Amino acid sequence: MSDYRIEVDRGRCTGIGICESMRDDRFEVDDDGTLVIHDDVVDEDERAEIESIVLSCPASALKLATVVG
Ligand code: SF4
Repeated sequence: MSDYRIEVDRGRCTGIGICESMRDDRFEVDDDGTLVIHDDVVDEDERAEIESIVLSCPASALKLATVVG
């Protein structure tokens, strides 16, 4: 079974914080607008939820990458 990893394109992220509003245990926008991802590894159980957060990012800055191994 594969795991997935959350990746952020920092050139695209505008720090709006939609992702944080959906899962603030994983996503946090610092005071300076920098996104911090607290745990970037996603298992199959959470894949659908995190995928919907990825799709909700208005800047298309998030990606869920497959971790081979
Ligand atoms: S929703 Fe997208 S643009 Fe907004 S903080 Fe999260 S990754 Fe960045």
